[in-house]
Amino acid sequence: MNELEKNIVQAIKSVIGDKKHSLHEPIFNGNEWIYLKDCLDSTYVSSVGNYVTNFEKNISDFVGSKYAVAVSSGTAALHLALHVAGISKNDEVLLPALTFVATANAITYCNAIPHFVDSDEETFGVDSNKLIEYLDENTKQRDGQCINLKTGRVIKALIPVHIFGHPCQIDELIELCAKYNLKLIEDAAEGIGSYYKGQHVGTFGISGVISFNGNKTITTGGGGVLITNDYETAKMAKHLSTTAKMPHEWEYEHDEIGFNYRMPNINAALGCSQLEQISKLLQFKRTLFNRYKTEFDKYTGFSIKEEPKNCKSNYWLQTLLLDNPDKSVLKKLLITTNQNNISTRPVWNLLNKLKPFQNNPCMELNNSEKLSKRIINIPSNVVL
Ligand SMILES: *Cc1c(COP(=O)(O)O)cnc(C)c1O
Repeated sequence: MNELEKNIVQAIKSVIGDKKHSLHEPIFNGNEWIYLKDCLDSTYVSSVGNYVTNFEKNISDFVGSKYAVAVSSGTAALHLALHVAGISKNDEVLLPALTFVATANAITYCNAIPHFVDSDEETFGVDSNKLIEYLDENTKQRDGQCINLKTGRVIKALIPVHIFGHPCQIDELIELCAKYNLKLIEDAAEGIGSYYKGQHVGTFGISGVISFNGNKTITTGGGGVLITNDYETAKMAKHLSTTAKMPHEWEYEHDEIGFNYRMPNINAALGCSQLEQISKLLQFKRTLFNRYKTEFDKYTGFSIKEEPKNCKSNYWLQTLLLDNPDKSVLKKLLITTNQNNISTRPVWNLLNKLKPFQNNPCMELNNSEKLSKRIINIPSNVVL
């Protein structure tokens, strides 16, 4: 072990101890068993039931949105959000290259084209200044639409992502979307409990999406939610998520092609219990961050990622940031830490490098390249 590796192992271990902790795991310390039993006893385990209705109500209360539509995954929620926003064949949709693959997959489900943009090193989210420069150079406005000069296609929307629960530069991106006629749909999959200037992430665009997969801050097993303040969006999303079935006691009338995306009641039962515990979970995560910070501040060469200015992050995944971007240093650190009983992970491969997206439109990605050589995720939900 070199000096940096020794310091990092020492710093992390002085916070989490010698015991092996995974990167993130769910915690079930509330009414999970009670609600699940109640759900089974009721026989309403599928896509109709009180827990789904209650979960939607509790989520919209928690995030401060008018509506919430609970679905089977965050990816399904993203697909639904894009579909309802009218994203369709050959539209281009802007998104960061530095995100989980689901953001890009959802775009392709609409037969639309992911167009990758760079992120900024402070927030890890879409770099608004760089994107403005890029759009000025590479697009023109025609009949209220943003045209990509290179491909001739319409760029219809932007999906900013709140990476690891850190809110991105949302004010600037709202302004940008207004200027270039882009629809704003937020991927807040990782962002439950994160706030930008006091407002919950996912509530700034036409719609936002939160995931409740097992590795997120709270879980429904698998699940997601579309949040929105727009009545038509909510109504259409709910309709389409339930096979576009027209309400009737017995008739099977479907007025368009819908999806089987509704969240099952049994998953919502888990979610209701998890949501009851969220403030305690968020407090744990913040305490863990503070302990990492106190330790890491004693060293040079690396630091712990802090929430951006004016923001409150849920600290979903804690991030060790190397001062210097260096692929081989990072690779060796991943090996050393995992060999020393510390679960660590690099950030996702930049999406423009993945096989399905290699030929997609893409801007220069200097910052994302650097970030991918600096980020190491470290154990994030150690119960203190
Ligand atoms: C988890 C995640 C998703 C997808 O959510 P699932 O519930 O796993 O489908 C989408 N985007 C980001 C950024 C995520 O982290």
